[in-house]
Amino acid sequence: MVFNNGKVSSKWHLIKIGCFIGGILFSLGLSLVSTGMLAQPTSQPPPLPVAAIHSMPPTLTQWKGGSNLSNSDNYFDQIQSTDIGYLVWSQFPIQVYRQPVPGKEALPFDRQQAEQWWNAVNQAVEEWSMYLPCRVTEKPEQADILLWRSPPPMRLGSNGQLPRFRTAETHYELYLRHLPNQSPTLTHRMTIRIRPNQSPVYLLATARHELGHALGIWGHSLLETDALFFSQVRHPPAISQRDVNTLIRIYQQPTRLGWSVPLSSAPQ
Ligand SMILES: [Zn+2]
Repeated sequence: MVFNNGKVSSKWHLIKIGCFIGGILFSLGLSLVSTGMLAQPTSQPPPLPVAAIHSMPPTLTQWKGGSNLSNSDNYFDQIQSTDIGYLVWSQFPIQVYRQPVPGKEALPFDRQQAEQWWNAVNQAVEEWSMYLPCRVTEKPEQADILLWRSPPPMRLGSNGQLPRFRTAETHYELYLRHLPNQSPTLTHRMTIRIRPNQSPVYLLATARHELGHALGIWGHSLLETDALFFSQVRHPPAISQRDVNTLIRIYQQPTRLGWSVPLSSAPQ
């Protein structure tokens, strides 16, 4: 089942450069991933955990912000919930994998682009870590968020036509995380693809924007002063107070993610 992205998707069709956010549930055609490594196709989707609210990480509960804007200044009404609730993380630090820069065998131009991409991604991870702790890992199989230096795959639009040029895409998959002597936990993994052939300023703006999606902001702001504005702007903004306020609202919502599947019915 591929999520219908509703109004987010329709906005995206109107703009020249943008991103796509989408997700896949394991009920149809997708594998359940056991222990985060091996795909185990299943015909019987497992029962979902009951949705509940996780406690917020201290980085968000202690966030005061640097402006006079109140917490009510946010764009939470633009955020989509999903069949499994809001896409919040409950285990910190969040593990982030970045595609490494190629070795000296690569063409100098490709290497330079890759280095710019790498710098942009690292800065974006650092910026968001102020609000939700992230830690980089060199092992993709251990990552919660994977960042790939590649164009998004072509996807047909809702009208059956090829979509316009896109700079980036973020999507998620669900899997069950098995730990010894515990019932498996419903978990998600985000995959981000970002084209490297952008200027450093836009690379950073794109990485910042897509990471915002991957951290749970599953929708777009309507104000161009927010990092999650639905289009690229001439002077990309930093993470705004409204972005953080929205993130806080999202992390106060219930989700089925991060909770255990009932033991009696959990797949082995
Ligand atoms: Zn977006």
